[in-house]
Amino acid sequence: MTPETREACEALDRGDVVAPLRAQFALDAADAADLIYLDGNSLGPLPRATLARVRQVVDEEWGEGLIRSWNTAGWVDLAPRIAGKIARLIGAGAEEVAVADSTSVNVFKALAAALRIAQADAPPRRVVLSERGNFPTDLYIADTLAQQHGARLRLEDADHLPAAIDDETAVVLLTHVDYRTGRMHDMAAISRAAHAAGALVVWDLAHSAGAVPIALHGDAADTAADFAVGCGYKYLNGGPGAPAFVWAHPRHLRRMDAEGWRQPLAGWFGHADPFALETGYRPAPGIARFQCGTPPVVSLAALECGVDTVLAADAVGGLDAVRRKSLALTDLFIALVDARCAGLGLSLVTPREPSHRGSQVSLAHADGHAVVQALIARGVVGDFRAPDILRFGFTALYTRFVDVWDAADRLRQVLESGEWRDERFRVRAAVT
Ligand SMILES: *Cc1c(COP(=O)(O)O)cnc(C)c1O
Repeated sequence: MTPETREACEALDRGDVVAPLRAQFALDAADAADLIYLDGNSLGPLPRATLARVRQVVDEEWGEGLIRSWNTAGWVDLAPRIAGKIARLIGAGAEEVAVADSTSVNVFKALAAALRIAQADAPPRRVVLSERGNFPTDLYIADTLAQQHGARLRLEDADHLPAAIDDETAVVLLTHVDYRTGRMHDMAAISRAAHAAGALVVWDLAHSAGAVPIALHGDAADTAADFAVGCGYKYLNGGPGAPAFVWAHPRHLRRMDAEGWRQPLAGWFGHADPFALETGYRPAPGIARFQCGTPPVVSLAALECGVDTVLAADAVGGLDAVRRKSLALTDLFIALVDARCAGLGLSLVTPREPSHRGSQVSLAHADGHAVVQALIARGVVGDFRAPDILRFGFTALYTRFVDVWDAADRLRQVLESGEWRDERFRVRAAVT
């Protein structure tokens, strides 16, 4: 049932159980400028709590407490505490998640651990399998690591998965929701197929953690994932460059413990006793070994506020309610673009089937970059991804149904008027 008027969208907002969560975000400036923010899948907006918390960390804990704050202000407990919170969002145990480093670095650590396990069995498997359209950093790191392990990176199209997993495959590295198309993999089905073929799976949750319910443990032993990583600054609203997270299945953690394995970036914060300052490395038990260096306290404080904005959904039905609303928003946007932007050069890239869709809608247009710039000038912030994708993230925590209506309306105006052809929309900034 697609609402046919803006008033009908307002009525949906009035009946929306998730709507109160929007008040958590500092969107006043956006509201004053009549700005619709559809890029929370790239950088989540500032939570109101973050400003006060960061100020406290800087003014009181750092400024007054100085180095004592590692103990007195609990800085040293910050990363494990946030890990426990993120664990609840991804169907994992608190003891299985570490918050550290960037997503890229965590891909490196998790994939290296997975390769080590996969190659411990004879004969060693020599293929890391990923998707051709996977996010470049994942591909660069997988390619580099494969070379270091006497293996190679094999790329397939999403349509050929999971069929492409075979007895040469050591590890399957996939992003749960594709950053460009918004397509979502069936995590359990791929994990099952990988395990049936004797391979391991590493999931990148950058575009799904905090937006869709995730069950890393699956519903049976063979549908559980092996390793996962995810991003702090997208749907977790942790701020630009926020620390990322890494997860490992407890069976792998137990094996790493039993056999004394280290991850490749064995730094002092992943040591069993960092302040013993021993000459030799001894890995900390469990996931703690995935820490490397000193945690970034100010960034962690901001990340915790961001994660809390998602956990606040517990009061309104949790991530299931967030997911229901997200699908209603993306369904609505697709229907409005179908109905109101027909014949204007757009094509839908994101799957229409809701179960195959993350929390974004991507459209292709031959002059996508200029259209996105013109749309931003009209107060709708999406982004452009080469070669021709207009990308719109619909974060259920703060996006309203009227925002979807207005965004589709402004998109139609930009295309109908041809204003995107203006020279100023051709300029490409460093970050698109
Ligand atoms: C955003 C994103 C990243 C980001 O990695 P950084 O190390 O934070 O730059 C990695 N992988 C995927 C799939 C992403 O979408």
